[in-house]
Amino acid sequence: MKTGAQYIESLRKLEPIVYFEGKQIESVVDHPLTRPHVNSAALTYDMAFDPVFEDLVTATSHLTGKKINRFTHIHQSTEDLVKKVKMLRMIAQRTGSCFQRCVGFDALNAAYSTTFDMDQKLGTDYHKKFVEFLKFVQEEDLMLAGSMTDPKGDRSLKPGQQVDPDQFVHVVSKDEKGIVIRGAKQHMTGMVNSHWMLIMPTTALTPDDKDYAVSCAVPVDAKGVFHIFGRQTNDKRKFDEMDQGNAEYGVVGGECLTVLEDVFVPWDKVFMCGEYQFAGLFVERFASYHRQNYGGCKGGVSDIVTGAAAAIAEYNGAAKAAHVKDKIVEMVHLTESLYACSIACSAEGHKLPSGAYYVDPLLANVVKLNVTRNIYEICRLCHDIAGGFIATMPSEKDYKDPKLGKYIEKYYKAVASFPTEERYRMGRLIENMTGGTALVESMHGAGSPQAMRVMLTRQGNVEHKKELAKRLAGIIKEYPAEKEAAATKDKE
Ligand code: SF4
Ligand code: FE
Repeated sequence: MKTGAQYIESLRKLEPIVYFEGKQIESVVDHPLTRPHVNSAALTYDMAFDPVFEDLVTATSHLTGKKINRFTHIHQSTEDLVKKVKMLRMIAQRTGSCFQRCVGFDALNAAYSTTFDMDQKLGTDYHKKFVEFLKFVQEEDLMLAGSMTDPKGDRSLKPGQQVDPDQFVHVVSKDEKGIVIRGAKQHMTGMVNSHWMLIMPTTALTPDDKDYAVSCAVPVDAKGVFHIFGRQTNDKRKFDEMDQGNAEYGVVGGECLTVLEDVFVPWDKVFMCGEYQFAGLFVERFASYHRQNYGGCKGGVSDIVTGAAAAIAEYNGAAKAAHVKDKIVEMVHLTESLYACSIACSAEGHKLPSGAYYVDPLLANVVKLNVTRNIYEICRLCHDIAGGFIATMPSEKDYKDPKLGKYIEKYYKAVASFPTEERYRMGRLIENMTGGTALVESMHGAGSPQAMRVMLTRQGNVEHKKELAKRLAGIIKEYPAEKEAAATKDKE
């Protein structure tokens, strides 16, 4: 296993091409725009060595029997699934932002079981190759960017019908050595500070979309790959300390657009090529694993937002007001509801034919749908408690200005016993954690709400519910036991 420092050193050896505002970022490790995201991911490495957290952040490889970082593990039990959620909450309580590594973790787990099932059904030989790649990932303790989301072009058209075929990553040629792919992946969390990316299809496919049924592993600095780093709300503040709110770990995951311009991938790193029948399953498994996470990571982030609301209420002199206490309780309730659902979908997980464990997909989708609502409400309550000053504070430079600083010190003071700077810093933290970029990530990260509704429609089994009602109303007299058992079993 690597430590955080070793992870950072390993990034220095890579040469990803990353642009921001038209200029190339020389080193993602040293650039103020990307460094907080590196720090956040580094914590997933360091915590594996901390005796307090070791049990959650490490696991035993089912392939080699060695101790590995959990972020490279294939879930072997429901206990593994539960530990994953606990680990995410615990890390998020320290970063207050996205630590990015879960996307690759989920991609590994989705690819493991999907390649197995695909080989069983179609007689292909992807799983063996994938296992070799997985061993390499575990041995080197690599960070992978899970690369699913394509730009998608016209949403009413399937990949094969697009005017521009590059709107979905696709295979442009193949020979005995490997394949060449072209297209782009969007909203790529943690990509610029990962070692490799694991490319997956983004949607269910038809026989006409065969060229789009592709999964493969590609180094982030492979020939033909470049990344355009995304803007975030207030990102220029990364050049100042206090104005950022969370200078160490930033906000969300440092997303980018990754362009793949005719990238060659050797066959041993290709895990799907043309098997359109399995694209939907791949997507569904990845999405369910990633949606499982959100009551963990957003639970941890919400713990901080709740704590910040309680602290600012004290600074403001409002902590004893009954309505403030009630709002804090509401925030706790909303947060624990998110977490409870993540734990539930993990505890209700089941074994797949490959031997790996999978979450309950219906409950995992409920987790993420709740996040698209509860986080807004948690942040709304925090804004309500904190007051308008979080949106109007003068800059750090003015605070430190010899002429202006004393006025800010004087007029931003609230309860006399608390230093103004504490109130200022807490206000900035709240502004950072509850602002535009963080909220949009809660809405669309791991898929947009409509994607969860589609899953709920498919998995909610309303027909069974109708039959339950009809039976009780005396409309259905007989209901075969096998039918009932089937309706309540495995929801995949
Ligand atoms: Fe992990 Fe949460 Fe970030 Fe997704 S949003 S990568 S689950 S920390
Ligand atoms: Fe995310």
